[in-house]
Amino acid sequence: MTELRTLKVALLGCGNVGAQVARILIEDADALAARTGARLQLSGIAVRNVNAKRDVELPQELFTTDAETLVKDADLVIELMGGIEPARTLILSALENGACVVTGNKALLAQDGPTLYEAADKAGVQLSYEAAVAGAIPILRPIRDSLSGDRITRVLGIVNGTTNFILDQMDSTGAQFADALAEAQRLGYAEADPTADVEGHDAAAKAAILATLSFHTRFALENVHCEGITSVSAADIAAAKDAGFVIKLLAIAEKLTDADGNEGVSVRVHPTLLPREHPLAAVRGAFNAVFIEAENAGELMFYGQGAGGTPTASAVLGDLVSAARRLVLGGPQRTETTTGHVPALTIEAATTSYYIGLDVADQPGVLARIAQLFAEHGVSIEIMRQTIHKDAESNVESAELRIVTHRASEAALAATVEAVKGLDVINSVTSVLRVEGV
Ligand code: NAP
Repeated sequence: MTELRTLKVALLGCGNVGAQVARILIEDADALAARTGARLQLSGIAVRNVNAKRDVELPQELFTTDAETLVKDADLVIELMGGIEPARTLILSALENGACVVTGNKALLAQDGPTLYEAADKAGVQLSYEAAVAGAIPILRPIRDSLSGDRITRVLGIVNGTTNFILDQMDSTGAQFADALAEAQRLGYAEADPTADVEGHDAAAKAAILATLSFHTRFALENVHCEGITSVSAADIAAAKDAGFVIKLLAIAEKLTDADGNEGVSVRVHPTLLPREHPLAAVRGAFNAVFIEAENAGELMFYGQGAGGTPTASAVLGDLVSAARRLVLGGPQRTETTTGHVPALTIEAATTSYYIGLDVADQPGVLARIAQLFAEHGVSIEIMRQTIHKDAESNVESAELRIVTHRASEAALAATVEAVKGLDVINSVTSVLRVEGV
């Protein structure tokens, strides 16, 4: 039997994900060698504290605090430190040295992806980051490779498990946001500082990556309109449920034509109403899913665990084997194509349906006045439902109106909502939420 070539693998970080990657590299060394055509030798693990207790027992001599030296001597570098620096400098150094790099660092990719992609192209090496979006779910390679002969028109993703868990708790128990968040923290689904998740920043970073690969154009974090879930109330969830919807935090990237006829891509993250029969509505707890619409493939759905050390390590190992195979077999090391050149549209140019909840005076002619106002702003109403309430103490009747509009531009919808607020028959606007999948 011919001796297999050895490829040196440097691991940067040994936390939740890194420790599991190290374990699999050691435990499954023979199987990985058979699949790759080379032995993947873990040459070292860079950490901050070499004596820290790890989730997995690993040979102590592998640990070092000298990440720079480790990177210089590697064929493949796995970056699982997180954060911007020193991850960015180490990845650039690895690429310049001709090493292929695997990372799960969505924050870095969203902030400075183009610098990294260009460095990889220049060096002719592979930069892969399947783990950066939706953890274990194979989603980036299907977009980049399997769908590269198709035209993707729309991507809808539940790409943040923490917010999906919180919204699901609110939906199934009627809890308020703060209580559902506390439960998520108690169960370890949310960090002590949950800002990046609940404000939508984590999902926005993933939306930029999904849009970049789907539309062959580089989209940065500043192209993503981002709204989190902190203002979603138990009343919003209950009203949505009553009307046959569920509220999800969606990352959306879609091709649209704006009011002036210009084609572009809208990339946004916001709480969204989905009909309960939509495939994404069935994604419960901390699970993730990505729903893709493509011209020829039609509708596709990818579902699985979006986080966790072992599931995420699966995605990292997949990238590693793929990069190692290319090193063994040779061939081009392309990471992505950027031939699309579609501009990013602002949120005002996006078209969407709205769900609007109104508390109105129970008087004759109110519905007609509201419908007329919508028509004057060019927004057509798809569903209008009225429920009458009687205040137990004052005996005064008021009506709750729930309106779902057809797709219209954000600008037209925002103007309509402002105009509705000015009507004397409106007691309050109780919710304004975007709707997809109708
Ligand atoms: P983590 O548990 O916080 O681990 C980070 C590791 O990096 C630790 O071992 C730490 O060393 C090391 N490290 C941090 N800064 C360092 C520095 N300046 N020099 C040397 N070592 C340093 O992180 P994680 O949860 O495994 O996540 C790693 C990456 O994967 C992140 O980019 C994250 O966004 C991404 N990701 C994570 C998940 C997930 O479920 N956790 C899912 C998808 C993607 P010490 O141990 O000595 O402190």
